[in-house]
Amino acid sequence: MSKKIQAIRGMNDLLPEQSPVWQYLEGTVKEVLASFGYDEIRMPIVEQTALFKRSIGEVTDIVEKEMYTFEDRNGDSLTLRPEGTASCVRACEEHGLLYNQTQRLWYTGPMFRHERPQKGRYRQFHQIGVETFGIASADIDAEVILLTARLWAMLGLTDAVTLQLNTLGSNDARARYRDALVEYLTQHLDQLDEDSQRRLHSNPLRVLDSKDANTQAILANAPQLHDYLDDDSREHFARLRSILDAAGVSYEINQRLVRGLDYYCKTVFEWVTDKLGAQGTVCAGGRYDGLVEQLGGKPTPAVGFAMGVERLVLLLETLERIPSAVLHTVDVYLCAVGDGTDQAALLLANQLRDEALGLRVLTHCGGGSFKSQLKKADKSGARFALILGDSELSAGTIVIKDLRVDGEQVTLAQADVAAWLNEQLYS
Ligand code: ATP
Ligand code: MG
Repeated sequence: MSKKIQAIRGMNDLLPEQSPVWQYLEGTVKEVLASFGYDEIRMPIVEQTALFKRSIGEVTDIVEKEMYTFEDRNGDSLTLRPEGTASCVRACEEHGLLYNQTQRLWYTGPMFRHERPQKGRYRQFHQIGVETFGIASADIDAEVILLTARLWAMLGLTDAVTLQLNTLGSNDARARYRDALVEYLTQHLDQLDEDSQRRLHSNPLRVLDSKDANTQAILANAPQLHDYLDDDSREHFARLRSILDAAGVSYEINQRLVRGLDYYCKTVFEWVTDKLGAQGTVCAGGRYDGLVEQLGGKPTPAVGFAMGVERLVLLLETLERIPSAVLHTVDVYLCAVGDGTDQAALLLANQLRDEALGLRVLTHCGGGSFKSQLKKADKSGARFALILGDSELSAGTIVIKDLRVDGEQVTLAQADVAAWLNEQLYS
């Protein structure tokens, strides 16, 4: 026997028993997005490598070591997208969607990063992303945050996540802060951890992220980002905070929150949970006013975020916040026992689907004993088994057995079943 081929490490199959939770999450997100009037955009999974290098930044973790980059048959350098923002900007520019208009967009799909796989961190993972374009004022920053807050409320997760908020200031302000930080950290170079020493010149703001205790101690006396802010960013941040306050969304200001990517300015935020161990960020985003221009377009203000679908599913499961109805995918299991009942069962199932809108009917196929069919009915999670045997077939009736209440059974004319089920299931 030849060796079985297995999936690639860090790239997961989504099994049938897991899909209902994914569908519930995705369905809820889509409902919230629709209620805010956001439109869907779908981009390819593969782009030119240069797109990500130019947007995310050469010295970020993603571009330095996480991208799946390969040469295609023409010798072009292509990359499996590690995130959606760059592709979204590319697509909008290419199709003129940013010309004299605003956009509020969302997308979902797989992203690819070559990281060390662990709980909540995979090599193929899924994001739902939102990007808005053309609005410079803080009300849109507030809107995207309110959108996420509404989502947590609908998912019953409000108590499980907290909002971390920061402002990075304008690009100039950040550059001035960067210089001050580098100057300070250089004086303490030998006390910094190895990663931070390396980042000190390539991407110094990332040193603020360091988990190393010694580095943290040094950072305690480092210059503070907020002392370097420009007036415009200060006012923008104050406006955002006052809207969030008025809306009752609480947050923590975290001056160390700088995000990994190059393109952010002004607002950055993360929703984090302490229920998932080290992979606690479930949603992250911010303002990126410079990116469109950096990719060859006109200067265009923009705000967006992306949430990690796997981490949100894990959170829903860990906290058992999944409504029980979500896990029930079948209402009725239709058993067909005896010659010729298979055909009648398929037709009856269709009749029920016509008459009882939304009814989920699983029809038994493949014959077998009454006992084995009833076992399958039970396992399907259906509330009712409908039993079509020889005598029911000739009488035009059906036996209905309540699978969740012992001994409950009725016989009805087939014409009356849909109304009866409607009454039982939906009233
Ligand atoms: P982290 O600090 O956890 O590596 P990040 O800053 O690299 O996150 P973003 O690029 O901001 O992550 O992506 C947005 C969200 O996508 C994250 O907050 C997280 O929920 C999810 N995410 C990112 N990388 C992964 C991954 N490898 N596996 C699963 N989810 C991920
Ligand atoms: Mg990362």
